[in-house]
Formats: sequence, C-alpha cells, structure tokens
Amino acid sequence: MVMFSRKRVLVTGGAGFLGSHLCERLLADGNDVICVDNFFTGPRENIIGLMDDPHFEVMRHDVTFPLFVEVDEIYNLACPASPIHYQHNPVQTTKTSVHGAINMLGLAKRLGATILQASTSEVYGDPTVHPQTEDYHGNVNPIGPRACYDEGKRCAETLFFDYHRERDLEIRVARIFNTYGPRMHPNDGRVVSNFIMQALANDPITIYGDGEQTRSFCYVDDLIEGLVRLMGAPNGNCVPVNLGNPGEFTIKELASQVIEQTGSKSELVFEPLPQDDPMQRCPDIGRAREMIDWQPTVQLTQGLEKTIAYFKALRD
Ligand code: NAD
Ligand code: UDP
Repeated sequence: MVMFSRKRVLVTGGAGFLGSHLCERLLADGNDVICVDNFFTGPRENIIGLMDDPHFEVMRHDVTFPLFVEVDEIYNLACPASPIHYQHNPVQTTKTSVHGAINMLGLAKRLGATILQASTSEVYGDPTVHPQTEDYHGNVNPIGPRACYDEGKRCAETLFFDYHRERDLEIRVARIFNTYGPRMHPNDGRVVSNFIMQALANDPITIYGDGEQTRSFCYVDDLIEGLVRLMGAPNGNCVPVNLGNPGEFTIKELASQVIEQTGSKSELVFEPLPQDDPMQRCPDIGRAREMIDWQPTVQLTQGLEKTIAYFKALRD
C-alpha cells in the first residue's frame, strides 16, 4: 500500500493571477499540487517557474466538464475575474461558475475532500450596507452585464451550501474583495493594472465616472494567507468569510497614488461609468479576524511598489 505523507491539493484556475500564487504557496508548504486550467485568462508563464518541481502537475482541463483525480483538498478558483474577460463570453462565465461548482463539489463528495470556493464581493452587488458583513444578502441586478459573473458566483455559493447541508460536505467559502499584485494580466482592464500600465507609459489615466466610487485593495500575499488559513479552519466552519483589505480608497485617490509612486506625467481623463458599477465596497473582516486570526498586513503603498516593479519589468 502506498502511504501519502504529503497532502494532495487541487487548484482549479491554478494558472491565473491568484491561482499561480496559491500553487506556489502550497508547494512551499510541502504539498503535492495539481493545477487545473483551460488557460483562458491565465497564461502558462504564470506557472513556468513551478514546472520543474516534481510535486507540481498541470492538467489542461475545462471545469465545466467532470474531472477525475484523487486529492485531499480542492481550491476552486477557475473563473475569469476581470469585467472585460468575464463579459467576453458571458454564457461560458456562468457555466464555469455553476457547472464548475457542480463538478468540483461532486469530486469533493466522492473523495470526502474539503473544498474551498473563491467567491467574491460581487455577491453583494452595489451594496446598500457599508461596510459589507457576510450576513448582508446583496443588491445584484440579475439581468445586467455583470450578472453572468455575480449571479454565477451566487449560484455557486448556493450549490456549496446545499452540498454542505444535504451531503455533509466540508466547505469553505471565501468572499474575496479586490486583490492586486504581480501576475495580474497587464491588459485585463482592472483598475490597478490599467492605472499602472497607463502611468508607466505616461498615457492618460482613465477614470470611469467621477472617480468618487470606492474600492478596498488587498495585496495578493495577504489574500493567499487568508485562503490557506480558511482551508485549514477546523471542521464545521462552513460559513462565508470576507477576505479583503478594509482600507477604502476612492478611484481618484488610487490614481493619484499610482501617479506619485511611478513619477508619471499622466493626466486624468474621465470616461462614462460602466453599467451597474458598484459605488462603494469595503469588507467587514471581523469574522476572518475571529475565525482564522487573519487580517491584511501590506499597506497600499507597499503593495503598489511591488506591483509597479512587476509591470515595469514586463515592459522592459
Ligand atoms: P484570473 O482570470 O487571473 O484566473 C482565473 C483562472 O481560471 C485563469 O487561469 C483561467 O484560465 C482559469 N479558467 C477560467 N475558466 C476556466 C474553466 N472553465 N476551466 C478551467 N479553468 C478556467 O483571475 P484571478 O484574479 O486569479 O481570480 C481567481 C478567482 O478568484 C476567480 O474565481 C475570481 O472570481 C476570484 N476572485 C478574484 C478577485 C480578484 O480581485 N482578483 C476578487 C474576487 C474573486
Ligand atoms: N475603473 C476606472 N478606470 C479603469 C478601470 C476601472 O475608473 O481604467 C473603475 C471601475 O469603473 C470600478 C473600479 O475602478 O469602479 C474597479 O474596477 P475593476 O474592474 O478593477 O474591479 P470591480 O469593478 O470588479 O471592483
């Protein structure tokens, strides 16, 4: 009989921005890691540095189809995350969240594995409660251009909790707020990558709306620490948990910060606010503090410094 001393961990969406950092962390912690990805938004370059590790395995696979592997834990991250990517093929986005959740939950059920869902602050939509606590049910437009993502993620949460209630599955649900850092796609249209790329090129910084809408920006290392701690929470901790940085900034403040830290000559230009763009977003992380003793440690200026250095190197 083969004895496994290392944990076998599956990361779907493992070639993406967050997934690649998570794979790296799980390997460093001494696990065997299977990265499953269809490479829609995650380039191979994100995981190239891990390819020589004998404990790392990559499978090209679309999670909307069933998957048969043997693992102890599953992190389900597969889903495009930036608005331009998830709106590119909205039906596929919903399928990825919903069929992907069904397939990964079925796998977890068969294996008795703990499964973590990368959910999102988007389940709160354009929130009327501020900051957002996990018991707030959200304010989502079910038929707008963001719905394929928001409602797909909400339905995935529904499936996770039904599998937990009906089939006793150990689930973890992380509601991730805006996260940034190295390996974000430079052209994914997200605000941090856009502003840094524009600032480095001395191009105009595109502010949508009046720039008074707010977001909270979590550095990737903090987020990965939160995901790993959540997965490791004692059995029975099957409740949604906000993971994000409670520091809240207007988009105009972010633009000024990026201009200052890059020493850019960029000017601000104002463009129309996209439909259903949330006006404010800030996590209440009381539950994460209490349950997994987690809170972000990286300030926006420090995180931006590392992210700017990454994008600078990409341009060179
Ligand atoms: P990303 O686009 O960089 O990564 C997603 C990965 O999933 C990519 O590698 C992509 O190729 C893969 N993928 C997409 N569809 C797939 C499919 N059908 N089958 C297999 N692989 C598929 O995005 P990210 O920022 O790394 O986000 C990862 C997860 O975290 C997503 O589920 C996202 O919804 C969630 N999340 C991210 C943020 C954030 O700010 N980055 C915030 C909230 C939630
Ligand atoms: N945004 C902006 N300029 C850009 C890209 C985004 O003003 O070039 C705004 C966007 O309208 C939103 C905020 O920045 O209000 C965050 O956008 P992002 O797409 O990064 O994330 P999400 O809207 O999903 O939180």
